[in-house]
Amino acid sequence: MCGSTSLAMFGGEPIRKSPWPTWPRADENTEKNIKDVLYSGKWAISGPYIGRKSYENQFAEAYSEFHDVKYCVPSSNGSSALTIALEALNVKNGMEVLVPGLTWVACASSVVGIGAIPILVDIEPEALCMSLEDAKRKISKNTAAIILVHTYCSIADIKGFVKLSEELNIPIIEDCSHAHGAIFEGRRVGTFGKISVFSMQQSKVLTSGEGGACITNDFNLYKRMQQFRADGRCYINTPLAYGQMELEEVGLVQGRNYCMSEFHASILLDRLKHLDAENKTREENANYLTSLLLQIGDITPLSRRAGVNRLTYYQYCVRLNIEAFGNSIDAIAQALSFELGISINAVYKPLNNNILYNPLSSPQISDLETIRALYNPKYYRLPVAEKASKECLVIPHNVLLGDKSDMEDIAEAFAKVKKNSLTL
Ligand SMILES: *Cc1c(COP(=O)(O)O)cnc(C)c1O
Repeated sequence: MCGSTSLAMFGGEPIRKSPWPTWPRADENTEKNIKDVLYSGKWAISGPYIGRKSYENQFAEAYSEFHDVKYCVPSSNGSSALTIALEALNVKNGMEVLVPGLTWVACASSVVGIGAIPILVDIEPEALCMSLEDAKRKISKNTAAIILVHTYCSIADIKGFVKLSEELNIPIIEDCSHAHGAIFEGRRVGTFGKISVFSMQQSKVLTSGEGGACITNDFNLYKRMQQFRADGRCYINTPLAYGQMELEEVGLVQGRNYCMSEFHASILLDRLKHLDAENKTREENANYLTSLLLQIGDITPLSRRAGVNRLTYYQYCVRLNIEAFGNSIDAIAQALSFELGISINAVYKPLNNNILYNPLSSPQISDLETIRALYNPKYYRLPVAEKASKECLVIPHNVLLGDKSDMEDIAEAFAKVKKNSLTL
């Protein structure tokens, strides 16, 4: 009976009319850094030395220090960070890489991009991260790396995967693109893998619009990643004279240009100072929202793993009892979006049925039928990911930068949509 209810999507009064906290954020210090770059004569690390460290190098130092690791290599985006991490680990053509079945497509497409084969692994129902059990089933003699993603607002089974990685000597690439600053057993996520990667794309909780980074404690991997991302060049360690190039030509590997610009690095250097405080605000609001949603019933937030000290909320994710809501997840998400004036969506489509993941179209991959079969997304059964995509939805993190009354609006919208869902 469309139109006869009070739902905003049918013209009723929305729960929320006032604006939400905006994202991305900037202030006068961000602006100061950008202006400094603008008139400095140095917009890229491949430009001449101007008497001070590049912003890119300053950000790399600050980001390593933030994680208490030795090295950081910034990059143009998260996809290129994944690419140079895989290349640094010597993942070769035809080798296999475990990738979670429910994640942003870049985790798989970056593997395809270097000619390796993404092996899609199912997820855990409570945390939506890669399932250790299914990973064990899918490991083969060709497995060269595991891309472990901390998804939405959870932390993956770090202990289980580190143990597996050590037993089998298969490196983990931690993808922390949803989890900048999260803490597990007293350590930042991103310090458990051989290399960890981050995206700083616009939607992420630390952002410069586009951007990425890899961190590691391994000097050899650091040197390789620097070269892979800067056409074979590395920072010079010796003191620099004005006008000299900061990068020296090494050429031990075949690099490409995946460098982060000075503008992007200057933004990140400033915004990093706010990350911990913003994460704390988001977590406090998320906890309050969780308490409100639990009162409504038929809504289950992702569970918090033992050992987690600080969660990051890239997106606030809940699972709905779809029968109680009496509708598809897409319809419910849309009704909520109308009530709140924000974009609420179902979680990612699993990679075995995701329009953005089309590896067989890539000129990169082999003509051999046996190899092509492994690339075929339809080859993979991901029942837990498929179920999650029909039951779970995500709320963007900017709303969590508000206050308690903002959380009450969100809860009220859930209650309203639940009550009226049969009319959807
Ligand atoms: C955003 C994202 C990426 C890709 O980053 P880009 O900066 O968009 O290239 C990779 N992995 C995950 C989990 C992401 O969410």
